[in-house]
Amino acid sequence: MCPGSFDPITNGHLDVIERASSLFDEIVVVVGINQSKNRLFEPDERVEMIREATSYLPNVSVDTFKGLLVDFCVAHDIKAIVKGLRAVSDFDYELQMGQMNHSLAKVDTLFMPADPHYSFLSSSLVKEVATYGGDVSKLVPEAVLRRLKERVRS
Ligand code: ADP
Repeated sequence: MCPGSFDPITNGHLDVIERASSLFDEIVVVVGINQSKNRLFEPDERVEMIREATSYLPNVSVDTFKGLLVDFCVAHDIKAIVKGLRAVSDFDYELQMGQMNHSLAKVDTLFMPADPHYSFLSSSLVKEVATYGGDVSKLVPEAVLRRLKERVRS
């Protein structure tokens, strides 16, 4: 499983998903639906953009979850969570989360170093740059760029 908020998916996420899809028979990208967070795209839109962006990867599917990630893992017999690490700052939180998920349900977390080309890249920064008219065309898949332009205009 590759979990996240994906609001929206970036080329950094896509790189991790693509690399994970060559290591595992099957990958499910899981979009967390967390009401408390301020989001630009609705869950359905986020799923649609990920589906479009990963359509060239036949062993990748997309789903959503509410609540505890490990409950989704147990219900779908998922043994491993793959997470991208951009910098040491990601590591502290991800390590805690990985240890918690293992203690809750014996689900393991595997960390994948981000491609250095994308280590500065986050969904929130992409949204900020796009809002002020900056060029994000090299940072997000085509499916996202289109929607992002429309959303910023409106
Ligand atoms: P959240 O909103 O929960 O912080 P995201 O949806 O932004 O998480 O990201 C989900 C996962 O993708 C996280 O494990 C994060 O570390 C990873 N990730 C985010 N951006 C990148 C990137 N540029 N390169 C590699 N991994 C990334």
